[in-house]
Amino acid sequence: MEKVLIANRGEIALRILRACRESDIKTVAAHSTADRDLMHVRLADESVCIGPASATQSYLNIPAIIAAAEVTNCTAIHPGYGFLAENADFAEQVENSGFIFIGPPSGVIRLMGNKVSAIKAMSDAGVPTVPGSDGALTDDNEQSQAIARRIGYPVLIKAASGGGGKGMRVVRDESELLASISLTQTEAQNAFGDSTVYLEKYLETPRHIEVQVLADNHGNVIHLGDRDCSMQRRHQKVIEEAPAVDVDEKARQQVFDACVLACKKMGYRGAGTFEFLYENGQYYFIEMNTRIQVEHPVSELITGIDLVKAQLLVAAGETLPWQQSDIAFSGHAIECRINAEDPQVFTPSPGRINHFHAPGGPGVRVDSHIYSGYTVPPYYDSLIGKVICHGESRASALDRMTHALNETVVDGIKTNLPLHRRLMAEDGFRRGNITIHYLEQLLNV
Ligand code: ADP
Repeated sequence: MEKVLIANRGEIALRILRACRESDIKTVAAHSTADRDLMHVRLADESVCIGPASATQSYLNIPAIIAAAEVTNCTAIHPGYGFLAENADFAEQVENSGFIFIGPPSGVIRLMGNKVSAIKAMSDAGVPTVPGSDGALTDDNEQSQAIARRIGYPVLIKAASGGGGKGMRVVRDESELLASISLTQTEAQNAFGDSTVYLEKYLETPRHIEVQVLADNHGNVIHLGDRDCSMQRRHQKVIEEAPAVDVDEKARQQVFDACVLACKKMGYRGAGTFEFLYENGQYYFIEMNTRIQVEHPVSELITGIDLVKAQLLVAAGETLPWQQSDIAFSGHAIECRINAEDPQVFTPSPGRINHFHAPGGPGVRVDSHIYSGYTVPPYYDSLIGKVICHGESRASALDRMTHALNETVVDGIKTNLPLHRRLMAEDGFRRGNITIHYLEQLLNV
């Protein structure tokens, strides 16, 4: 692979650029007019402006991105996460235009992008799923009521094309079911262009545990263990760690094996994540992300494997250089997502960063595109970086993170650093094993 077009922005664009550098691959930064000052745009071998600030006209503008790859003679396109990363039509157009899409084949993205077909594919491969409607709801109201009764309340209505924590509604009583279904259908149609919804048992106190996989084009698949991402607010992850602690070891190994098998069955290629809810010793598949994830560094720190370089390698058609038995897990890693937002009310806080000081030292990694004098634009996600710490044990990783957060200075805008500093000291979190409701319950106090 000679030249990669980076079709993303922020920290992940810089992360991809670094992986390309280490792999001797040239880079082209495709950026909006609002992102000329991004660090990876400065560092890339070439850059192309693909449109105005609005993401729909730039980072989501498929013809502009493909044209940018064409004029710069790129071999491949890396979509990063978010934006077009899980858009099967984009992947297909990239393939049809003669470029390598750094991710799975478009058919696999399409299969996993629809949660109804994804759940079906998973249960066929022996991956445990949440008790639910086994397919989309029809307009037969009585049938929907019967399904909900069979599952047992509370149930969760979910949009088949949903993502980013949107398109979900909990129903605790049958009297609310039909109105909630039609509301979710309307919202799903507006947000995702697809009104299909399905029902799932609403789990009251689950943890969010996910499995990282890596596959090549030749049928080789390995897993890189699990991550716990239960620290969430509004279904958005705030802190992630690897490995997941305090889980049933037998069930865990079975889930690892099932994920690997599922990848083989669907012809997966690249890095991917199976997301599960975990409650009372049981795993329940909820969705697969067919891309690199924000929290990938915690798996990198405990395995020593560079997932983005691995993505480049397998996209180029090379065989995975590791077998499962080569993967050794060492210590514990934690990641804090640093957002430009008010730590109390969580409203975005874009603006100029007057001064930035990154933490450092052994076992401390910072993935961030910001620098002193950089202005965070108001148009995109508020993630400005990630602090990731590795330690021999969970306790030492937490201690290291505490010190790292205390060292970090971001002046000029509001960030959620104070929230992270507080969380590192919370007893419940330090004990481990928190549920996905922990943070919201804590914030309501
Ligand atoms: P998205 O694609 O929007 O991220 P997911 O299916 O991954 O949607 O769900 C996002 C989050 O919603 C999960 O991490 C969990 O917090 C919550 N959630 C999803 N399904 C259930 C369920 N059946 N019961 C309880 N919570 C759920």
